[in-house]
Amino acid sequence: HDSGQVQPPPRGRLVVISGPSGAGKSSLTRAALNHPALRERAELSISATTRPPRPGELNGRDYWFLDPEEFQKRRDQGRFLETAEVFGNWYGTPVDWVDQRLAQGRIVLLEIDVAGARQIRKARPDAILIFVHPPNLAILEQRLRGRGSESEEAIARRLAHAQKEIDQAHVYDFEILNDLFEPTVERLVQIILNPVPDDNPT
Ligand code: 5GP
Repeated sequence: HDSGQVQPPPRGRLVVISGPSGAGKSSLTRAALNHPALRERAELSISATTRPPRPGELNGRDYWFLDPEEFQKRRDQGRFLETAEVFGNWYGTPVDWVDQRLAQGRIVLLEIDVAGARQIRKARPDAILIFVHPPNLAILEQRLRGRGSESEEAIARRLAHAQKEIDQAHVYDFEILNDLFEPTVERLVQIILNPVPDDNPT
């Protein structure tokens, strides 16, 4: 009924999830999005990239795969909320899609690197930044090898990059350790829904 009061506009929540590739952040993010508490409320932003698709990746599902000219054009037009170059390829978050969802009151997850997270922190001070730590670098290396899709050189590069990202984890609002999958999903969902510091930080 009409209470005579103007309702505030719905407010969404922007959530950044970073972590070294191989830390398991994609699986965690997917599981969080499927969690009953988030399923109806949260969505993952699909980034644009100049990286060529890996086997099995689909345009519009995994990324928007753009050639470098088109990416640069959109960048110049201000169509990205943030951009970063990772391993020689460009990545960017489409600003229109994100803002449209936030205006609808949705929770929007961004799976982006540390450089991107820093830009989000400045552009959107209300964003929640979460860093996913791998249990340790040896396990990270195993996971990278387990993909079977990359050369020794690429794996070495990713490990070095992982260490650099881990060194910057302190700029995030929350750091979580991906040791056991299910409890880590629960913790991630808990933070997304109620981003207050843990009573018992570990
Ligand atoms: P990959 O090529 O393995 O899918 O992703 C490489 C890295 O780029 C990952 O750390 C991933 O989180 C990051 N990334 C993916 N999309 C974006 C984006 O839109 N912006 C930024 N800054 N990083 C991204």
